[in-house]
Amino acid sequence: MNIDKDFDVLKELDDVCDECKKEDESVTQNLILTGFKICKSCRVSKTIFPV
Ligand SMILES: [Zn+2]
Repeated sequence: MNIDKDFDVLKELDDVCDECKKEDESVTQNLILTGFKICKSCRVSKTIFPV
């Protein structure tokens, strides 16, 4: 059965930040762009991308 696995993937795309647990549309974008499931605020605070 692959249903459980697919469901887990959907759960990963719930837009909830792993750091602050807040829901933000930027979470999925950051997950795709950086591989980190975090919102834009946490991304800035963690400084994943050096400016
Ligand atoms: Zn966050």
